[in-house]
Amino acid sequence: MKVMKFGGTSVGKPERMYQVAELITKDNEPKIVVLSALSGTTNVLVSIGDAIANGKRDDAKQLINNLQEHYDRFIKELLKKEEHRKKAQDVIHEHFEFLNIILKISFSEALSKDILAQGELMSTKLFSIYLEEQNIDHAWLPALDYMSIDSHDEPQVLEIRSALKKVLAKHADKTLFITQGYICKNAKGEVDNLKRGGSDYTASLVAAAIKASVCEIWTDIDGMHNNDPRIVDKTLPIEQLSFDEAAELAYFGAKILHPASIWPAQQFKIPVKLLNTMQPEAKGTSIEEKAGSIGAKAVAAKDGIIAINIRSSRMLLAYGFMRKIFEVFEKYRTPIDMVTTSEVAVSVTIDNDTFLENITRELEPFGTVEVNRDQAIVSVVGNEIAQTPDVLKKLFETLSGVPVQMISYGASKHNVSLLVPAAYKKQTLQLLNKGIFNL
Ligand code: ASP
Ligand code: MG
Repeated sequence: MKVMKFGGTSVGKPERMYQVAELITKDNEPKIVVLSALSGTTNVLVSIGDAIANGKRDDAKQLINNLQEHYDRFIKELLKKEEHRKKAQDVIHEHFEFLNIILKISFSEALSKDILAQGELMSTKLFSIYLEEQNIDHAWLPALDYMSIDSHDEPQVLEIRSALKKVLAKHADKTLFITQGYICKNAKGEVDNLKRGGSDYTASLVAAAIKASVCEIWTDIDGMHNNDPRIVDKTLPIEQLSFDEAAELAYFGAKILHPASIWPAQQFKIPVKLLNTMQPEAKGTSIEEKAGSIGAKAVAAKDGIIAINIRSSRMLLAYGFMRKIFEVFEKYRTPIDMVTTSEVAVSVTIDNDTFLENITRELEPFGTVEVNRDQAIVSVVGNEIAQTPDVLKKLFETLSGVPVQMISYGASKHNVSLLVPAAYKKQTLQLLNKGIFNL
């Protein structure tokens, strides 16, 4: 059995949905198809939630009406038979009725998650009706019946596996299943989600849960590229990445894949393939245990980084200093990305400033604290990169004009990370494209 996941742009237009239907019926291998919401829908649902939260119910109503018109047009184009159009309209109107009811009741965090869940519910229901019109036998699987997160917002594969087994057992005669990405139930039993872009994560979790032969992630680009195509002129798709390399790339800025979506596949040794809906014959990127080759494979950048430097002469020859510092970040559940140390100072970076004030206040007793916002982490990712002497030499030569703030090297065999002021991110990526990849 395999998993095929299609993102928002792959289902965002009726003709794209036709293409998806073709792709999932090309072979007879049983499959679970994970769909995102139609492109743009989740953004609108976020805006609807924000408008309601801010008491702007008229704005919310307007957004709901516009979205509904979009779906009405979509249905007319997607479906040809009156019977199926009517069915789709009834189904979609129920979801909009739900949104309109929410408008009238008092707002809560849980309710905003209910709003966000409508996108994937609608896209999968529409696609399912289209398959029905095409006489393609399948079953629609409610993700809310099997996808879950625990009280720390973490999905547990074994939990998901046993719940999914029960759901699949209800359709023992089927070989094609359509399900929602992104949405899940939380430990309180409420509707929740796996965070923006989380449909990839759903696909990987489902693949791990059913021990799939492969987890295919279909998007609108022919795999993971060696650099950010929006910033540099020439980029090339990477043929093969190890799970570790892919995780570093996804985490450090490659937008094609949700960063958390690597671990379930890696843990259960499920190969992941990144493929292009618009160009299905393209090789794409294969992510598996082996890296395939040695040396630098890609650079990626992560924005919105904050650097925190703590300097104190008391650190000299002292022990326990690091622990105290890290405990502050742990207390505020704020992950640290990069760390560098000298005898009297330590620098760390974070990308979440929710508790920045509390963190700096609690760090102050340890020394002088300096905060630098607007930084970017640029990561060079590859296999045995630290052991490839050329990479470092090229890196320093290439970036001689860039004010690098921090360097992290050696902790991972797959990564050299640099901290640069955000204003230098573009230039850094462009220079590295030439200096390291000769592009
Ligand atoms: N629809 C959700 C989002 O836009 C999840 C996804 O597409 O992966 O974030
Ligand atoms: Mg995505």
